[in-house]
Amino acid sequence: MKNNSTIKEVLSRIPVGSEVRVNGWIRTFRNDRFITLSDGTAPQTLQAVIEASHFPSELIKKLNTGACISVLGDIQSSPAKGQDVELQVRQLEILGEADSEKYPLQPKKHSLEFMRELAHLRPRTQTFGAVFRLRHHLAFAVNKYFNDKGFFYVHTPIITASDAEGAGEMFAVSTLDPLKSPKTEDGNIDYSQDFFGRMTNLTVSGQLEAELFAMGLSKVYTFGPTFRAENSNTSRHLAEFWMIEPEMAFYELDDNMDLAEDFIKYLIRYVLEHAPDDLALLEKRLAEEEKSKPQDQRSDMSLVEKLNFVLSNPFRRVSYTEAIEILKESRPNKKKKFKYLIEEWGADLQSEHERFLVEKHFNCPVILYDYPANIKAFYMRQNEDGKTVRAMDVLFPGIGEIIGGSQREERMEKLQEKMKAMHIPEESLWWYLDTRRFGACKHSGFGLGFERLVQFVTGMTNIRDVIPFPRTPGNAEF
Ligand code: ATP
Ligand code: MN
Repeated sequence: MKNNSTIKEVLSRIPVGSEVRVNGWIRTFRNDRFITLSDGTAPQTLQAVIEASHFPSELIKKLNTGACISVLGDIQSSPAKGQDVELQVRQLEILGEADSEKYPLQPKKHSLEFMRELAHLRPRTQTFGAVFRLRHHLAFAVNKYFNDKGFFYVHTPIITASDAEGAGEMFAVSTLDPLKSPKTEDGNIDYSQDFFGRMTNLTVSGQLEAELFAMGLSKVYTFGPTFRAENSNTSRHLAEFWMIEPEMAFYELDDNMDLAEDFIKYLIRYVLEHAPDDLALLEKRLAEEEKSKPQDQRSDMSLVEKLNFVLSNPFRRVSYTEAIEILKESRPNKKKKFKYLIEEWGADLQSEHERFLVEKHFNCPVILYDYPANIKAFYMRQNEDGKTVRAMDVLFPGIGEIIGGSQREERMEKLQEKMKAMHIPEESLWWYLDTRRFGACKHSGFGLGFERLVQFVTGMTNIRDVIPFPRTPGNAEF
């Protein structure tokens, strides 16, 4: 390791004429002379130039795509176009051979679908290198943003006995033997004999626990894995994804919207500033993908233009009621082009409707608020109209819903009424209700799906391509 340099260091700050050792993986080896070397530290590769006659031919034969090598030599200015410097190799060592017959990645373009089958090798490629470096920058920026604003990072539990949404779609956690699990008298599985003495599952959200902490530390956030056993094979759903959930005491819905907008804009600004080269690489990829689409479906904005567009325009804030009016009168609704036609107030919005509003009608990010109470969760604050709750969804072009949030119901009676109506037993959430019993206050929060944000920033169309090892129905290979 001593005196090694990364490619990022070589390209950014080591002066021409210096001697360096660089380790990395071979992308290509051309004309018995030029090695394209990558170590993932930068979007760029390093050209290592060798004089084949100075090395044993046995060694040269092993310079295959995929092999791991260590090279020592001098940095010199490069006559080749597209690069300022190259490495003139004096010493060459093969650290790990790669059989060129068997190595699945050839020096050509592979489809994203093909690469999903080889998720263990995705980090070796240019596109995924850029995606995952950006994912890192975004995760770092999330923590930086909240830290700088006085939020505390709370690690909410992954195994829980509560279901924040009051709906199904959970993965059970159990150590009982499925073949001979103990039974209760009425023949059901006796979870009192299970590990936790009760039924437990993987969390679908850290919100309820984050609320408890906001009631003591004022401003907190969780950022962790979230699990949903939803059997939907879409390009926007994973069974395991990461969610960022800030929760703030004394915030009302408008404050919540302001924070959501400021937060997303900060994250986008952060990557524009800190990872322009990775963005440029993905912008090129996206432009090529666009070329393969029919003319009328192509985006007229490049990736970076889209990011700048979001920065320079306020998110449109539109009530659910206004949105329904717009959708009712819309062309696709009148021409029966929507799969789910909007007939009346109260309809749940599908992603086709969300995308119509964002991509066709308003043509910018939209925050929808004040949804009908009966399509939203029990904890959202009821409005005076008796029909709507202080919910907000942030909708993004190409993605649909990226954030779901609300002002929480802090009034004990209202909350109890609602739980009763939705058949949520109070005993199961006594600890949650305690925060309303003792020192309740107005508060708000939201959940941002991290992968959906990474999708937007990288321009990757499928959510499976922005998480290292995607879990989806029927798929947990790696
Ligand atoms: P959707 O309607 O898109 O399924 P949701 O209403 O179930 O989303 P919430 O429960 O509000 O979503 O979760 C908050 C955020 O988490 C969403 O806005 C989205 O960004 C993200 N999210 C939700 N489900 C998934 C999933 N299965 N995979 C990836 N991200 C998700
Ligand atoms: Mn969902």
